[in-house]
Amino acid sequence: MGLAAAYQAVKKGYQVEVLEADDRPGGMAAHFDFDGLSLERFYHFCCLSDTDTLELLDELGMNGAMKWVSTKMGYYLDGRLIRWGDPVSLLLAPGIDIVTKVRYGIQMFTSTKRSDWERLDKISARDWFTGWSGEKAYDRLWRRLMELKFYELSDEVSAAWIWQRIKRIGNSRKSLFEEQLGYIEGGTETLMNALAAAIEEKGGTIRYSKPAAEFIIEDGAIKGVRAADGEVFEAENVISTIPTPYVPALFGEAHADLAAPYEAIRNVGVVCVLHKLKKPVTDNFWVNISDANFEIPGIVEFSNLRPLEDHVVYVPYYMPQTNEKFGWSDEAFINQSFGYLQSLNPEIERDDLLASHVARLRYAQPVCEVGFADMIPDHVTPVAGLQIADTCFYYPEDRGVSESAKLAKKMVDVL
Ligand SMILES: Cc1cc2nc3c(=O)[nH]c(=O)nc-3n(C[C@H](O)[C@H](O)[C@H](O)COP(=O)(O)OP(=O)(O)OC[C@H]3O[C@@H](n4cnc5c(N)ncnc54)[C@H](O)[C@@H]3O)c2cc1C
Repeated sequence: MGLAAAYQAVKKGYQVEVLEADDRPGGMAAHFDFDGLSLERFYHFCCLSDTDTLELLDELGMNGAMKWVSTKMGYYLDGRLIRWGDPVSLLLAPGIDIVTKVRYGIQMFTSTKRSDWERLDKISARDWFTGWSGEKAYDRLWRRLMELKFYELSDEVSAAWIWQRIKRIGNSRKSLFEEQLGYIEGGTETLMNALAAAIEEKGGTIRYSKPAAEFIIEDGAIKGVRAADGEVFEAENVISTIPTPYVPALFGEAHADLAAPYEAIRNVGVVCVLHKLKKPVTDNFWVNISDANFEIPGIVEFSNLRPLEDHVVYVPYYMPQTNEKFGWSDEAFINQSFGYLQSLNPEIERDDLLASHVARLRYAQPVCEVGFADMIPDHVTPVAGLQIADTCFYYPEDRGVSESAKLAKKMVDVL
């Protein structure tokens, strides 16, 4: 979001400086060297509705970089991997009665057509699922997915947030039976590097390993930003796109009253394990898991979207940071998740594991709770010249590259 905002601003002739805490561009979409392969720290796919990503690629001269693939989805339900994501799969799914299947099918189908969401913001995802499809459908198909992402917060998540996710993925298809997802050639790094290069080409500067520590506010207006090393960057306008949990510290004691709305927004963290294998686990891009022997809600077999020399699988463990599991060692996560892959595909042996990596984020997913629409502050703050946003500001849309780029453009229009 920060890079997209900087890019839009330099295009309009502003003199722009980007302060980035990390040593590389991209934030959650940044790459790292995974055993000789440049790969996202966290899996990234695109949907057909990601028009702002497509627009950026086009403007940056890379309109052929988006590759669309017919992907498959699976569901590992109580020890059995089944096909998932289309009406026939639903009808064939074991252990669900026909009435529940019809109710569930209607809920999913109408969700892809629906556009009003204000009422959904006022009820929990759980109440929405049970109201439409019944308790049995929730218990069998959604309970573990929600509980293994949000744990004790799962009953608080709003229906609007989950509905928007169902809609985005449900509509990313060629036909009722064919899902279509996209990846950027070379990974998200292609877009991040191109944005960074375009900003610098147009006269902007990007300062890496330069965390912002304080908003400098005088007489109700922003005057600049002080970096953690004390360097001061004077500015007439500041756009903050750091995760909201970090925002209150930038207001400091003197403006603590302005921090309250950001303090109220909760996030869950993620420990994302990545495995490189000689063999595929499944032929799906995404496998949901609801099985008492698995403490994960699913796996993302990335090489079934983006063709890679070896097979690459992400195993995300989302959880509130208060969960004791967050403190587990990398080795413990690697061993457990590899064991899960072996359970999913017993043909995988220890010798098939080529490399593993663990990436952690303290704030990976905002908890968009019931009534969240009223909790999000305006991105235009009461401080003249200061705008603040992160991925939850475009609720009910889920966090995503395209929506972040869209909001960035809106913020620059405010300038
Ligand atoms: C596990 C996971 C999977 C995802 N999958 C997808 C997907 O499939 N498709 C998709 O579109 N999106 C996906 N996303 C989301 C996507 O990565 C983000 O929405 C997108 O990167 C836009 O993020 P952002 O710029 O708003 O925030 P971020 O990427 O979090 O950027 C915030 C930036 O602020 C920097 N920062 C933090 N503190 C400071 C400070 N004090 N001073 C200066 N800089 C600071 C950080 O280093 C970071 O670069 C995923 C995210 C995660 C975590």
